[in-house]
Amino acid sequence: MNNKAVATPSRTKEILGKYGFSFKKSLGQNFLIDVNILKNIIEEAGIHEEAGAIEIGPGIGALTEQLARHADRVVAFEIDQRLLPILEDTLSAYDNVHVINQDILQADVEQVIQEQFKEGQPVRVVANLPYYITTPILMKLLMSRLPIDSITVMIQKEVADRMAAEPNTKSYGSLSIAVQYYTRAAVALTVPKTVFMPQPNVDSSVLHLEMRDQPPVQVEDEDFFFDVVKATFGQRRKTLMNNLARHFKGRMDKTELRTRLDEVGIDPSRRGESLSMEEFAALANRLYK
Ligand code: SAM
Repeated sequence: MNNKAVATPSRTKEILGKYGFSFKKSLGQNFLIDVNILKNIIEEAGIHEEAGAIEIGPGIGALTEQLARHADRVVAFEIDQRLLPILEDTLSAYDNVHVINQDILQADVEQVIQEQFKEGQPVRVVANLPYYITTPILMKLLMSRLPIDSITVMIQKEVADRMAAEPNTKSYGSLSIAVQYYTRAAVALTVPKTVFMPQPNVDSSVLHLEMRDQPPVQVEDEDFFFDVVKATFGQRRKTLMNNLARHFKGRMDKTELRTRLDEVGIDPSRRGESLSMEEFAALANRLYK
């Protein structure tokens, strides 16, 4: 066993050299080479010795190794087959890690949870995500309502800011509502580019999502609610009325829309970015009827 952590520049270079591994940009391969950042991620994720961890994209095992040291069991999904022999090598000292060679977007994660973790065991998702599919991965995990406690992920800073944004900020939009409908979201850390090999072009943050037992608002129809939210942010500089009129064209005229907005006490001249989740829910429920 090599005592030096995978996530050090020298060991990472040594492993890449040994296997002649070349990074695939198309798979978002930016590996972490800073053990302190990994320890912070594990702490933010609340990983403890009884916890189960799901990792997406273990790469050469930088984060996986630290998870294996702190969690009861780790299950990691890796799409790139070339990494499997490397992971077998770098994680050979740990018998609590299971690597699945699969695209996370195709995986039946719920079934994997049932098969791989103990009943009632808290399961937390922890990952340094491939940036090209951050939002599809997170929306899949959230919308499939998996039996997990939290998601802690390194993602592009700008996307993390949007997911955790409050009303009346530049970053607030339909993605903030979508994520915060399922979770309590907070940006836990911002991370310099220098902790990656190769360095990405964008800044990164660690986003922590704590799953909610219940959504914070009650909506009549979730698809309709999210459609209204999206329509409201359609053209950010336009008023609520203009965006809604455009969306409901042929189904509801401006007079009807004005009446319904009045009934829920929302001024039609406001902009979408000023509406809280509660206001969006009240509006969508009133428009649904
Ligand atoms: N966890 C490693 C680390 O922190 O050093 C690697 C992180 S790297 C940003 C993203 C990883 O996700 C790569 O190993 C890449 O091959 C993998 N990956 C990309 N697309 C994936 C997908 N659809 N499903 C599973 N893994 C994927």
